[in-house]
Amino acid sequence: MSAGDEEAARLARAELPSGLRPETLAVRTAMAPSQHGENSEGLFLTSTYVQPDAATSARRFSEMQDFTYSRTSNPTVRSFEMRLAAMEGGEAAVATSTGMSAILLLIMGLLKSGDHVICSRSVFGSTLSLFGKEFAKFGVETTFVSQTDLAEWRAALRPATKLLFAETPTNPLTDVCDIAALADLAHGAGALLTVDNTYCSPALQRPLALGADLVMHAGTKFLDGQGRVMAGALCGSRSLIVDVFGPALRTAGMTLAPFNAWVVLKGLETLNIRMKAQSESTLTVARWLERHPAVARVHYPALASHPQHDLAMRQQSGQGGAVLSFDVRGDTPDQAREAAFRVIDSTRVLSIATNLGDTKSIITHPATTSHGRLTEVQRQQVGIGQGLVRLAVGLEHVDDITDDLQRGLLS
Ligand SMILES: *Cc1c(COP(=O)(O)O)cnc(C)c1O
Repeated sequence: MSAGDEEAARLARAELPSGLRPETLAVRTAMAPSQHGENSEGLFLTSTYVQPDAATSARRFSEMQDFTYSRTSNPTVRSFEMRLAAMEGGEAAVATSTGMSAILLLIMGLLKSGDHVICSRSVFGSTLSLFGKEFAKFGVETTFVSQTDLAEWRAALRPATKLLFAETPTNPLTDVCDIAALADLAHGAGALLTVDNTYCSPALQRPLALGADLVMHAGTKFLDGQGRVMAGALCGSRSLIVDVFGPALRTAGMTLAPFNAWVVLKGLETLNIRMKAQSESTLTVARWLERHPAVARVHYPALASHPQHDLAMRQQSGQGGAVLSFDVRGDTPDQAREAAFRVIDSTRVLSIATNLGDTKSIITHPATTSHGRLTEVQRQQVGIGQGLVRLAVGLEHVDDITDDLQRGLLS
């Protein structure tokens, strides 16, 4: 090797040594830098790529490995995909414009009319509508089952079942399902298990290692981590990502924009320390709320009072995550709502909004926002009362968060 070649090889960081830890992969995994040697990954804002000649162009269009057109792929987007796959312990990932479009791609790529899906009835609201309403129109039928009762999942299996879809923990009650048990159930029936890993992120939970076939992300939340952009992804085996979802994405075009990919790519570098810090603060807030006389109940997996506490601690690296919810006391639903609104409206630091996974803590009233379209009876079935408040904990000092909650909690 000439000195010039050696410099090029070192610049390119073509091969990272094997056995690197997840924290290192989160910072280092990416496409090789350009000839300029930029240390921070480049942002390639280009819709197309100049080809050296017609024959190369023809080959690239047939092989779909090198870059041809940004609906299909883009170097910044690919760096994000490589990094996320490395962090999830998957062979490959495909990025999408939002979390919902990742589920859209999942359904389009995997299912056809006549296929059957089993999904927890406690998943994200738009996920419920996408399976239960939009794709029912195309002959894909979904059975919704209990988040935590494995027997219900088993009883819902049919010969046509192709996909089990789980999200754990759930929003806003933080119910946890057993990923390894669902994977066994799916595989025994010849179906695949997909896990929406938005809430824990690979910093706390790695569903592929527990037997799931695919991981889905709303990159909008913790992967970005600062509430800036929308993004999504599917992660799994190379055969599923490259042969099934790649072609479907190229055709349908729910592609992630390069700028958004760059923001989320840089977000991944701090994911591990953010998740750990936010998770620790959330536990402090949860314990404080649990002792508060105005609070009837706190829902948080790292509390010993959580119904699936042991499972959650095994599955989530001993951490509860950065979202909790709590019921404020109130004798009637109207009084409970009044008390919940008082807590929310008395805050002077927290943001009143319906997002999570931001450095800024966010407080919300699920019964009138994310779950406002359900009837009161449906809400009671899933345990979302008028007194329930959800808190997504960010990176403010934890005492400022509890001080802010204290303003509206009557003792
Ligand atoms: C936000 C969210 C989604 C949808 O992601 P978008 O980027 O908003 O489309 C899906 N699942 C979960 C658990 C979410 O929190």
